[in-house]
Amino acid sequence: MENRHYRIVGLPGDCIGPEVYRAAAQVLDCLAGVQGFTYELDEQRIGGAAVDAAGEPLPQTTIDACRKADAALLGAVGGPQWDDRPAEQRPELGLLKIRSALNLFCNLRPVVLHPALQHFSPLKPDRLVNVDLMIVRELTSGSYFGKKWRNENEAEDVCRYTREEIERVTRAACRIAMQRDRRLTLVDKANVLETSRLWRIVVRDVVEAEFPKLDLEFLYVDAAAMHLLTRPGDFDVMLTENMFGDILSDEASMLSGSLGLLPSASINEQRFGLYEPIHGSAPDIAGQGIANPYAMLLSTAMMLRHSLDDGEAADALEAGVYSCWEDGVLTRDLDPDGLRTQEVTDAVCERLVR
Ligand code: NAD
Repeated sequence: MENRHYRIVGLPGDCIGPEVYRAAAQVLDCLAGVQGFTYELDEQRIGGAAVDAAGEPLPQTTIDACRKADAALLGAVGGPQWDDRPAEQRPELGLLKIRSALNLFCNLRPVVLHPALQHFSPLKPDRLVNVDLMIVRELTSGSYFGKKWRNENEAEDVCRYTREEIERVTRAACRIAMQRDRRLTLVDKANVLETSRLWRIVVRDVVEAEFPKLDLEFLYVDAAAMHLLTRPGDFDVMLTENMFGDILSDEASMLSGSLGLLPSASINEQRFGLYEPIHGSAPDIAGQGIANPYAMLLSTAMMLRHSLDDGEAADALEAGVYSCWEDGVLTRDLDPDGLRTQEVTDAVCERLVR
């Protein structure tokens, strides 16, 4: 059997970040034994922990370590103890900087509604059948990064996209759709915006030339916002530009009804990815050992699938998590009699070795 060896940077971060990160490290160790891969986990600092140790939220040593690795696993950053720091020492700046230093242009947010957890969703059960979608958001261009200015009476944020920027994120979205249900929905505002018209042309070109087996549809962003609530089960991969993706991915994450369950990834052209839960560092529950580790564990599964090309290990980890959900193995954010982080982590590991 081929020798699979993975180089991973671990970024525990702040508050509950290290607590959920430790859960991922334990599960990774267990999975390696069962699946027969080896790995190095090089722990580095980011966020408030890096500010305390090195005076800045993203030390060069962390960037250098990531450049030598296949992927990075991040807990979460931030906390009240750094709130009064000057802008260049804010923990969240570490996240913005790492995305730009490593050119992480493609953001992935899966939303899966497992039947065992549907009752946490704010939507009615009949709307939740078959919800399993992936939002692919362009992360490093568009109006958030365009030229900006403001005076007392006017302001401008330029939204600019190049063909190359659209092509690379489209290819990433298409590759993912090919591993799933082969359906891609481009969300835009092509009835009003020139950038959206370019997106439609480029996405159609890429799909026709390189992914002819994909089923491509176009949807206006206002309609997409409604359809995510009325027929979320109809979508497979949703591709969109930076600002629309920011808004729609937050809307979609609410479908599950819990912050502690959803993973995310930001990847670059070399398929290096930063994998992290969508929740923050939850200072209100830090140090109590009750943080929900599932979003972090599912981020680890995404890392195995999207950066390490180990779909088998990813499937095994996800199956372990889903089996726990089916058996009601939950933390206190979802169940008043729920378990501790360590107990949930042990339960996932037990299922991996069965
Ligand atoms: P948050 O996501 O940290 O917490 C919101 C609520 O959800 C809290 O009540 C918290 O206890 C709960 N929660 C979140 N994750 C949980 C988990 N895994 N298990 C159980 N409960 C969980 O958002 P916030 O309170 O707005 O922000 C707290 C800090 O996190 C801030 O400093 C913020 O800047 C930072 N933040 C970091 C990231 C990141 O690292 N990617 C993202 C968002 C916010």
